[in-house]
Amino acid sequence: MRRLVWRAAELVGSTPETATARTLRLRVPGWPGHLAGQHVDVRLTAEDGYSTQRSYSLAGPADGEYVELTVEDVPDGEVSPYLTEIMEAGDQVEIRGPVGGWFVWRAENERPVLLVAGGSGIVPLMAMIRTRRQAGSRAPFRLVYSLRGPDGAYYADELRRPDPGLDVSFLYTRTVPEGASRPAGRIMLADLAEGGWPAGHAPDCFVCGPTGFVEAAADLLLVLGHAPERIRTERFGPTGG
Ligand SMILES: Cc1cc2nc3c(=O)[nH]c(=O)nc-3n(C[C@H](O)[C@H](O)[C@H](O)COP(=O)(O)OP(=O)(O)OC[C@H]3O[C@@H](n4cnc5c(N)ncnc54)[C@H](O)[C@@H]3O)c2cc1C
Repeated sequence: MRRLVWRAAELVGSTPETATARTLRLRVPGWPGHLAGQHVDVRLTAEDGYSTQRSYSLAGPADGEYVELTVEDVPDGEVSPYLTEIMEAGDQVEIRGPVGGWFVWRAENERPVLLVAGGSGIVPLMAMIRTRRQAGSRAPFRLVYSLRGPDGAYYADELRRPDPGLDVSFLYTRTVPEGASRPAGRIMLADLAEGGWPAGHAPDCFVCGPTGFVEAAADLLLVLGHAPERIRTERFGPTGG
């Protein structure tokens, strides 16, 4: 197994995704490449030598020495406010990775795929969507994306653009757009029955988001008859320390 080393990562650009999240484009000389679904550890070191690290998913396919992360600002958090608000082009952090070998999708896989995202859990799933598009894969994808309200969607324009073979359904837990037929509420059986694949299609299911969301969604998939070995989960609980 390759030993993971810390590498310098310089911010070369950033894009706001929502009022509270931004995508960071970092240049990481020596980056070995990665697979869709993997994450990195990001380490910040203060002038007095104190350092702390957190995990962040890679938001796009391998792209030479560039990587993209999308970070949600956790109020009073130690690391995310720096990444979302303070870090400027030219500033550096350290990155270690790629990490994770189970929660990954490879473009040569042609099976149907069901992606289930809760909030910032969309990030590694977006890497899978982008990898599929870039590779010209014909694997049929469905995404069920649960978020608080329409303003909270990451990658909103990209997800609304036609992408043949990708079906996207949004569901809102707190605020719904005018005229929406589904009332606000947490993910339910019907959301996955309608927005996902029948279990008989044996899709590979990738579920990512806050721990409670992931557990609820994975349980619903089991109720719908999906085989446990086809359900892969990634929990965005607190990390680091
Ligand atoms: C594999 C993995 C991938 C991840 N990928 C992403 C990603 O792509 N984008 C992203 O924004 N985050 C991601 N996270 C979460 C991220 O690692 C941090 O936990 C998050 O950014 C908060 O760090 P912080 O230093 O700002 O807050 P901290 O200083 O660690 O915590 C501040 C307070 O917020 C609470 N808290 C911390 N993290 C969370 C959380 N995730 N949800 C709810 N409460 C929390 C803490 O318990 C504490 O009370 C991922 C986590 C994992 C395990």
